[in-house]
Amino acid sequence: MPLQEQPIVIGHLSSRTPAWGLTWWGEERRYQSTVFPVRRPEEGETIVELHCGTCDAELLLRVRSLALSRSIRKRWLAAAAIGSGVTAVTVAIGLGSEYAGSPIPLSTGLGATLLVAFLASIAAAGAGLFGWRNEEGLRLYSGTGRGDETHRLLSGAAEHDASPS
Ligand SMILES: [Zn+2]
Repeated sequence: MPLQEQPIVIGHLSSRTPAWGLTWWGEERRYQSTVFPVRRPEEGETIVELHCGTCDAELLLRVRSLALSRSIRKRWLAAAAIGSGVTAVTVAIGLGSEYAGSPIPLSTGLGATLLVAFLASIAAAGAGLFGWRNEEGLRLYSGTGRGDETHRLLSGAAEHDASPS
């Protein structure tokens, strides 16, 4: 299997300006970007050291192999499938008992269990879908640990900011 090289873009936060639209307000963040070719490992995961092109800060990027990334996504997808399956079953039981003319009261053990299962399954389905969408196999760490206000992975991960440029 050939090793896959992938260009990733790391942004260095250069300015923040308050911004608003009709239905939201927040801030617009602008980034100076640096492109790095990153090679995926054949298996497992590896930590790559990069230097920001703007401030030369040391950044650590965790890169997962495609195989590992895929199996993690598969696990998230399974969680989402099981979660939504359980949701459907609890709804079917709840509706079924209503139609049958004997609704299950929440005060009973069965009613409470159904409610908890229903809520937990929705949470599991949501978390599963989120994990499935967001598992790209790349995660940026700063030199000092997780989280860095200044640097951000701009491509290779889901983008949430108003307008990274
Ligand atoms: Zn920087």
